[in-house]
Amino acid sequence: MADEYKAPLPNPTPDSKPFWDGLKAHELRIQRCKDCGDAYFYPRDVCPGCLSGNVEWFTASGRGKLHTFSIVYRPLKYPPLQAPYVLAMVELEEGPRMMSNLVGIEPDPAKIRCEMPVVIEYADVTAEVTLPRFRPAS
Ligand SMILES: [Zn+2]
Repeated sequence: MADEYKAPLPNPTPDSKPFWDGLKAHELRIQRCKDCGDAYFYPRDVCPGCLSGNVEWFTASGRGKLHTFSIVYRPLKYPPLQAPYVLAMVELEEGPRMMSNLVGIEPDPAKIRCEMPVVIEYADVTAEVTLPRFRPAS
């Protein structure tokens, strides 16, 4: 099953490798500034809030809420995301927003609501790569 994943895979950089390593361990690791305290995503070595280089990695809760979404009806060129699927902007409990997919719910605009609580799901798409997806929190 995992070998069948044909969609593009991430190519971790030194800045993003802890994020991808965390997902493989089924942990959502993001960064936080040790000077101003802001958590942020995507990975980078300078705080986007105060430009401090005094930053650290930590494990986020994996919980958040749906900030916004779009239902995509046009199929992708590759599996496994068959259309329709839900492209989601999730606002993490810690503050940062990240783009992902919403799964575990029918891609129906009448059923999906902004602000709905979501929780991360770890999709082990290959032996080396795990991708973050979100589903409605129960
Ligand atoms: Zn800062």
